[in-house]
Amino acid sequence: MNFCTTHVTAFTNKFSAHCSTLFSTLIVAGLLLFATGCQSPMVPASQDSIDRAAETITAEAILNHVEILASDSLEGRAPATPGEEMTVDYIITQLKAKGVEPGMPDGSYIQEFPLLGQRVDGSKASMQIKNGGRVAGDLEYSAEFMAWPSNEEERVTLEDAELVYVGYGIQAPEYDWDDYKGVDVSGKVLVFKNSDPAYDDELFEGDARLYYGRWSYKFEKAAEMGALGALIIHTTPTAGYPWLVVSNSWGRERFTLKGSVDPTTAPAFNGWLTQRSSIALFEEAGYTLKEVLDAADSPDFAPMPLNGITLDVDLTSSYSNMSSTNVVGKIGGNDRALKDEYVIFSSHHDHLGITYPVEGDSINNGAIDNASGVAAMLELAGAMTEIEEGLRRTTLFMFVGAEEMGLLGSLYWSRNPSVHPGKVSANFNMDSMQPYGETSDFVLIGYGRNSLTEAFQKHAEAAGRTIIPDQAPEQGLFYRSDHFSYARVGIPAIFPNAGSDYLNKPEGFAEETARVTASNYHAVSDEINEYWDTSGAAADAQLIFRTAIDVINRDEMMEWVDGDEFKAVREAMLEDAK
Ligand SMILES: [Zn+2]
Repeated sequence: MNFCTTHVTAFTNKFSAHCSTLFSTLIVAGLLLFATGCQSPMVPASQDSIDRAAETITAEAILNHVEILASDSLEGRAPATPGEEMTVDYIITQLKAKGVEPGMPDGSYIQEFPLLGQRVDGSKASMQIKNGGRVAGDLEYSAEFMAWPSNEEERVTLEDAELVYVGYGIQAPEYDWDDYKGVDVSGKVLVFKNSDPAYDDELFEGDARLYYGRWSYKFEKAAEMGALGALIIHTTPTAGYPWLVVSNSWGRERFTLKGSVDPTTAPAFNGWLTQRSSIALFEEAGYTLKEVLDAADSPDFAPMPLNGITLDVDLTSSYSNMSSTNVVGKIGGNDRALKDEYVIFSSHHDHLGITYPVEGDSINNGAIDNASGVAAMLELAGAMTEIEEGLRRTTLFMFVGAEEMGLLGSLYWSRNPSVHPGKVSANFNMDSMQPYGETSDFVLIGYGRNSLTEAFQKHAEAAGRTIIPDQAPEQGLFYRSDHFSYARVGIPAIFPNAGSDYLNKPEGFAEETARVTASNYHAVSDEINEYWDTSGAAADAQLIFRTAIDVINRDEMMEWVDGDEFKAVREAMLEDAK
């Protein structure tokens, strides 16, 4: 082909014009690729890689952690003690060794939170029932009543405080239940029946104890209603434990999150009355205790002022300030659309520390509660790093503190969340793993309340196991460990628990170990013993791991079932997170 100059120029111009367009297109494409992070779309972890990672969660590794965490040298891991410091160091060292990143926005592993310790001086505490100004009963501290200032004041003195009986004191719109009927009870001392209605399976889930039935709900409600004080009537059936548990737990130093009450609006005191003191109180008002307790079991109940009956109260307490620690690790997600959504694992690292010696032993080692949960969650985090490229959402591992003091570490997080709760798909809580061997069954506390149940069922089936619901609903276990703090801010939460249908164990093993567990609960004897076989904890942790990967990589977030008490707050949080 022969070219004259004109053609050559025309051609080169055309070619260079063509080149510069091509060139700029390439630049733009390149920039686009870069902007979208130079990433080819991520590939969720394959089943093979998940299986291999799950196998890294072993009985031996879990036992090794428990041997250290539950050793005497960690002194029972009480908050704000050297035992806690050593525990926190151990967890952080393990997370670093496993390649789990710091999980807090400031780039650290630590969320510190302030605790306020309160000790009531029982020798100075007094409570008098008065009828028309006449002292009708002078109650004895610990034997007949327990009470403490609830406004962070050192001294509370009340004279002629008026009393109102409020039944269960519940407002539950989902059950169309309101014990206050619009009556103004502010400035009064409210007297509560404990627990929640159990006479109708359609109401408050029959004899299961909902949060409405927990003592903490009663005190929170009294504060919300602007009450001057709150007293719960103790009966063993409605509490689920004898008076001794009440006098012991409130007879020693108790902790709250510092600054969690507004002294100007908080009730002056909270407390409990024994059954006998309650009988005496209502008799002065012309009622029998049975009469008023029965009256509460009706949607038509309305507050009952105890006319002419008043209370004089005098309480003195001292306070101590300290802080405790949540340890937070993170494995980042890789999916562009989902990596800013989260799945949270929680497991409390604290226990009861050093208490009165029992046969010379004063260290509460907390091997089951909760060294086992921390151990299993460390191994689960390690397994997850094996497949981290294949994870769509981000996973947070929260080793929370001060659970034994009232879920305080997780409660603090829920009030000072490091990520928006509306961006969190689910919470898996690991508190007290299976220490005695593999079982065919697996308990879910929270069974049927949210879509995590279906996820667990799928993976349990694949492992030839059976998911069963809470076997003791009347104990209200859903409200007694850290998942509850996450549920309160709407996060679909689940509390996996140990089964009891053991594989390859002798006849009667389940009953025997159940007895051992009950006698070691919150006792210095919660230590590794001859029954221990952590293959059970490993199998359960692997099931939790497989289910969690599924939840981390699903398109949709988990959700509560319609009508669940946490559905409303979830919807509000999802809206707020937009
Ligand atoms: Zn625990």
